[in-house]
Amino acid sequence: EAPWWRVTAAVTISSTAEKVVYLVVFHLSFVMFVWSYWKTIFTSPASPSNEFCLSKADKEQYEKEERPEFQQEILRRAANDLPIYTTTESRAIRYCDRCQLIKPDRCHHCSACDICVLKMDHHCLWVNNCVGFSNYKFFLLFLMYSVLSCLFVAATVLQYFIKCWTKELTDAYAKYHILCLFFVAAIAFIGIQWLFSRHCWLVGKNRSTIESFRAPMFRNGPDENGFSLGYGKNLREVFGDEKKYWLLPIFTSLGDGCSFPTRLVIMDPEKVTVSTQTEPAKSSGASQPFHPRPLSVEDPAEAGAQEAAGHGLWQQPR
Ligand SMILES: [Zn+2]
Ligand SMILES: [Zn+2]
Repeated sequence: EAPWWRVTAAVTISSTAEKVVYLVVFHLSFVMFVWSYWKTIFTSPASPSNEFCLSKADKEQYEKEERPEFQQEILRRAANDLPIYTTTESRAIRYCDRCQLIKPDRCHHCSACDICVLKMDHHCLWVNNCVGFSNYKFFLLFLMYSVLSCLFVAATVLQYFIKCWTKELTDAYAKYHILCLFFVAAIAFIGIQWLFSRHCWLVGKNRSTIESFRAPMFRNGPDENGFSLGYGKNLREVFGDEKKYWLLPIFTSLGDGCSFPTRLVIMDPEKVTVSTQTEPAKSSGASQPFHPRPLSVEDPAEAGAQEAAGHGLWQQPR
């Protein structure tokens, strides 16, 4: 009888072609899994750029000021030049006291990392890192390749797993290996595919996990679909424009993580107009035909009128 440590697959599987296919496919998906996992863990979360920090003068004034409404006034003035579309639920400028910066849209302070993280999704204990703008694509690929690896293992072991019960397999060690392999792969598959499906749904809606619990506050009120541009475009926001890079854990997400195209729904008594509004690029922003600083507009009715008059559905190339 063979020793306990010999490779069960080599003995149990008789067909050479089957062995080769199993080895190649498994290792391919396993290498991709390790690569994406590695990138998810070791890509540092991206923080807001310096333009979101208060100037020295503003910071001093902000710290001296004790009345919240005047503090807000300072922030509002500083935020005028920033590409920000969302506020807190109470319509205040989103400011991080800890990092002393105005939070860009979709940015949140992570208490575990103790920094503000761009397009923060969640702090993941499984990868001991924040999942956000800089590594969300890697995280999705990590989930996808782990689901595929587990599914492949469970599916290929299944016929031998059945043989264990029909008594066609008599080798006790092989039985032990096959049972373990099948149960571990099947349980991991069930657990991870649930998470993976949820994130696929979120990508389709262009929503982060945080935003799925609390809708971002736009000028027109909370809008959970505020950043959604339609399924195809939402997918490209994360995976980029070039399909050849979609399955590789290489950073190809669109944008800079500080500003995001938004979809503003304007309620008109006559009809509902849906307009897509994007952030002006720093160089060409001034010539764009839409209101560049939504938060500086105090009167929502006036803002809506400007929006409706200006344009229909369009998106600025990025
Ligand atoms: Zn912060
Ligand atoms: Zn974190």
